[in-house]
Amino acid sequence: MKKLALFLKHNRTKIYYAVVTTLLLLLFSWSVYSAATMALGRLQSLSSLWQWGVISVLVIGDGIIVIWQYVRLRQAESLTRLIHDMQTIANDNSDMQIDWQAMYAPQTQALIDVTNTISKHTQAIREEERESERSKDEMITNISHDLRTPLTAIIGYLGLVEMNGTQLSAADRAKYIHTAYSKSNQMKVLVEDLFEFSKTQAHDAVLNMTTLSLGDLFAQLIASYEIEAHEHHLALTQIVDPELIVIEADSDKLARALMNLMSNAFKYGEGATFIKLTAQVKADEVEIRVINDGIKIPSAALTDIFDRFYRVESSRNSQTGGTGLGLAIVKGIVNQHHGRVRATSDDDLTTFIVTLPLKQTINSDQ
Ligand code: ATP
Ligand code: MG
Repeated sequence: MKKLALFLKHNRTKIYYAVVTTLLLLLFSWSVYSAATMALGRLQSLSSLWQWGVISVLVIGDGIIVIWQYVRLRQAESLTRLIHDMQTIANDNSDMQIDWQAMYAPQTQALIDVTNTISKHTQAIREEERESERSKDEMITNISHDLRTPLTAIIGYLGLVEMNGTQLSAADRAKYIHTAYSKSNQMKVLVEDLFEFSKTQAHDAVLNMTTLSLGDLFAQLIASYEIEAHEHHLALTQIVDPELIVIEADSDKLARALMNLMSNAFKYGEGATFIKLTAQVKADEVEIRVINDGIKIPSAALTDIFDRFYRVESSRNSQTGGTGLGLAIVKGIVNQHHGRVRATSDDDLTTFIVTLPLKQTINSDQ
């Protein structure tokens, strides 16, 4: 009894269509038979040609009914199967793709295609979320590490001063306090860089757009790095072509981006003899280049260096003291100006190329 109930439950669509088909066949056969007898008299008295005619109508008609019902059965089955698969996808919150074809049901097939497209998009969004989650975790680890290192030193040195009080010589005390002070400054720079970086990542950041002359901006930058250049025996030059280039930009932010590029040139351009700032107009854009000679950036790292916290291994090990946020800030600022930035480097030159639109038409509407 239970088996029968189960059989009926699992095959109810088939049973339904079998009953309907049988009824339709009976109805059709009866209609043809009645119509023929009404129109032509008793079948037995008909000529064999007429008899064959009636039989053919019955066979063809019944065949069509059987095929039609079979197609409808397959359509109903594929729809039920699709609903079941969609329920699985919804319940398991899965990215499953439906890999069977609805042969006799073009509309169900269209639904399958749409479901697969939605699944694919959901999968991509999920992967993006996972990636963003992973990179956030990584960022927190990096920040904690970079903050903890100077903080440990500060606590260590101040602890020495606090505990040894009067026993310390004035020179030692001054040395420890000086180290703690310079480590505090290092922390301040990191916190400020983090703040600056997070500002460049905000989608709704408001830029303070002004019209500025690149020649003037370059002159200011060169003036502010004059002493450093002198100490490093570096020549600082600028070429602006045409001589007057005026662009719409947030001058503080653009200056910050160029300063990051210039301080990198000082820090990493080992053996460098010059740093050159150039600007050239190309159609409705300007190409700003910060060029230095000196040590080459490995080509495998040329795109990664713009990622936050990324540092080329050699600089990680060196004492240059960066955190790897400088170029991420540059990229953020350039993006906010609807521009692009890239780097090229060979044995002779390392060049950072910032391309910016001359006018911020899109941004000024925002
Ligand atoms: P921060 O700028 O946050 O103090 P950082 O200078 O290490 O730290 P970025 O400015 O993002 O970080 O630079 C990333 C890496 O790119 C550097 O660690 C360095 O290895 C490499 N790099 C950047 N500019 C140059 C350059 N002009 N020449 C050679 N290497 C460079
Ligand atoms: Mg830097």
